[in-house]
Amino acid sequence: MKTVVIGSGAAGISAAYHLKKKGGNPVVFEQDADWGGLCGNFTIDGFRFDRFVHFTFADDPYIADLFAKSSPLYAHPPVSYNYWRGYWLKHPAQNNLAPLPVEEKVKIIDSFVNRPKKDVSEIKNYAEWLRVQYGDYFAENFPFAYTRKYWGKEAAELETKWVGNRLHVSPLPEVLRGAFEEQKENFYYTKFMNYPKKGGFRSILDDCRKGLDIRFNKRAVKIDPAAKKVFFEDETTESYDELISTAPLPEVVKMLDNVPAEVKKAAENLHWTCGYQVSLGFNRHDVAKHLWFYIYDEDVPPARVYSPNLKSPDNAPDGCSSLQAEIFFANDAAIPDKAEILEKTVEKLKHLCGFDDKDIVVKDIRFEKYGNIIFTPDIYENRKIVRDFLTANGVNSVGRFGEWDYYWSHQAFKSGINADK
Ligand SMILES: Cc1cc2nc3c(=O)[nH]c(=O)nc-3n(C[C@H](O)[C@H](O)[C@H](O)COP(=O)(O)OP(=O)(O)OC[C@H]3O[C@@H](n4cnc5c(N)ncnc54)[C@H](O)[C@@H]3O)c2cc1C
Repeated sequence: MKTVVIGSGAAGISAAYHLKKKGGNPVVFEQDADWGGLCGNFTIDGFRFDRFVHFTFADDPYIADLFAKSSPLYAHPPVSYNYWRGYWLKHPAQNNLAPLPVEEKVKIIDSFVNRPKKDVSEIKNYAEWLRVQYGDYFAENFPFAYTRKYWGKEAAELETKWVGNRLHVSPLPEVLRGAFEEQKENFYYTKFMNYPKKGGFRSILDDCRKGLDIRFNKRAVKIDPAAKKVFFEDETTESYDELISTAPLPEVVKMLDNVPAEVKKAAENLHWTCGYQVSLGFNRHDVAKHLWFYIYDEDVPPARVYSPNLKSPDNAPDGCSSLQAEIFFANDAAIPDKAEILEKTVEKLKHLCGFDDKDIVVKDIRFEKYGNIIFTPDIYENRKIVRDFLTANGVNSVGRFGEWDYYWSHQAFKSGINADK
């Protein structure tokens, strides 16, 4: 039985690896010239950059073990920082107000104590959730601004099921303690952040990838479910007994003929972020000071900046350091020009990170069409309509963009395992 797998990201590799292990015959078709999808990377003059931040905190023992066997891992304590109007606050900001002026601390704590009291089940949207958890002043100045930068939407436009344990909710003593001194305790949603010692983030998948039949530069453009054929951009076709797709739902809908209006409409109403990666290499070892940090100021384009060389020294030449900045937009927003974003990002980061033009030896910007799924209130209904239609047409749609969910790499990998169930 021949299985065609569209995409060689975490989900596609996992699906093909597990099928092959059970005696199946999977062939993976990847539109890019290399494997890994969002877990992949690129190298410029000895500086390796992942496609956005990427650490692994796989909690499923089977998956964690596969990743660790594939590559020895560094275990980083998840210590990150927040930049806000000239101040550096340990993450999470609401618990580490110590560096702020007294007036700001008073406004934040006063508004926290007097925050709206509401049962979580009655909360209608993310804006309300933030006000109820943190108080109006902090909500409006920190996460509302960050939501615009990271999600490309107003907090009031988002629902809340996606939040889960991603955001720390603090009792008053924690907020007060952090207002006096930087807290030692880690309040991050995971206690460890692992990263491969060699080869970039995708090395966690390397053992599973080896031995797979992956065909590159093969962009699927059409699926004929009746004839069980996939058509590629290079005008070749491939027959299948079974089809697994990890391509984004809105793209798969475009590959099918005779799509009912209701399904088209549901696909059009799925929202996601796209984004730029600004990647910088420096001829100095000391530019990167934080593993990663968040930026709340809206005049600074990146929402988040991280350091590839602090993740692993293997990501930069000896004596050098590197940064990558992530700049996101909603898919339906006007996207500023690359040159404009690159220049503005570099100028702002010079100020934040203390480097100069003469320190920069690599400067790159590239665009990623699919970043994060946006959780508007109608997401669950729309993705069900689309996925039911794909299932009815024999398309087994898995992975972050195939299930249309906020999946980390280990969850995308698990979705690939479940493709066979
Ligand atoms: C900003 C950001 C930060 C993240 N940070 C982390 C993190 O720290 N830790 C973590 O675990 N996860 C992180 N993730 C999530 C992680 O990247 C994903 O969960 C995972 O990579 C998704 O794998 P996938 O295989 O489902 O999708 P993808 O990686 O998107 O793979 C899909 C593949 O299909 C290919 N494809 C698409 N369409 C076609 C077509 N028509 N024909 C042929 N091929 C096609 C694509 O080129 C791609 O290779 C992050 C994601 C983002 C956006």
